[in-house]
Amino acid sequence: MNGRVLVLGGTGEARRLAERLVAEGVDVLSSLAGRLADPRLPAGEVRIGGFGGPEGLAAALDGVAALVDATHPFAATMTAHAVAAAAATGTPLLRLQRPGWTAQPGDDWRWVDSLEAAAAAGAGYRSVFLTTGRQGLAAFAELTGRCLVRAVEPPSPPLPQRVTVVLARGPFPVEAELALMREHEVEVVVTKDSGGGMTAAKLTAARELGLPVVVVRRPPVPPGVPVVATVEAALAWLRAR
Ligand code: NAP
Repeated sequence: MNGRVLVLGGTGEARRLAERLVAEGVDVLSSLAGRLADPRLPAGEVRIGGFGGPEGLAAALDGVAALVDATHPFAATMTAHAVAAAAATGTPLLRLQRPGWTAQPGDDWRWVDSLEAAAAAGAGYRSVFLTTGRQGLAAFAELTGRCLVRAVEPPSPPLPQRVTVVLARGPFPVEAELALMREHEVEVVVTKDSGGGMTAAKLTAARELGLPVVVVRRPPVPPGVPVVATVEAALAWLRAR
């Protein structure tokens, strides 16, 4: 791979890709949004903070040979900006996105299209486990049941009315998820379809406890962008450049 690779990060895949590229001697710059005070930093050079919209990202693509959008499946704004900036500058763009989760026998999953729809699906339960992250909790502000919110850093208001916040960073073992859900007498789990193994234990725990899971569908990847599901496939795409 000749030339600099810009990796839009904030995910485990982005970190692993940067590590592999550094190991192969590739000039890689990873970008983080700067949401966390104490982020897990990737190997190699890192920049932190927004670019200032698609134009700012386009300017940052000066001297960049390839752009890999390895942001979270729900970081749809950044993904759209990557598409626009890559098109404006003629920079090759790859989307690295882990596969979504698939229900297994015994699962009771209810798919919804938005956090608002997830809140509607969670209404009427006495105890809701919200694992959708720190952002977007305003959608659940009207829930009257007890809400257990798990996030890496403290969420800002508006929050659900009867909220308990647990600060934790995955991976979470199944036993710990079972204990947490039992302790809080959780009746329904709400999650985004983030995919991956880091936070999948809650789904196993919900299955074992016979609890329904409200799953928010991913936003679609913009058409025309090549998508790979693994770091290995991303490396192969980059090597082919
Ligand atoms: P978003 O809504 O798609 O993006 C909002 C703005 O944040 C973008 O317009 C951009 O600002 C900035 N931004 C986002 N990702 C960036 C990156 N990697 N480098 C530089 N700027 C970035 O993003 P989000 O959903 O808030 O996610 C923010 C970060 O958290 C991403 O790195 C994502 O991978 C990670 N993350 C998100 C979720 C989730 O559920 N959404 C979960 C886990 C991790 P400018 O317009 O100023 O460039």
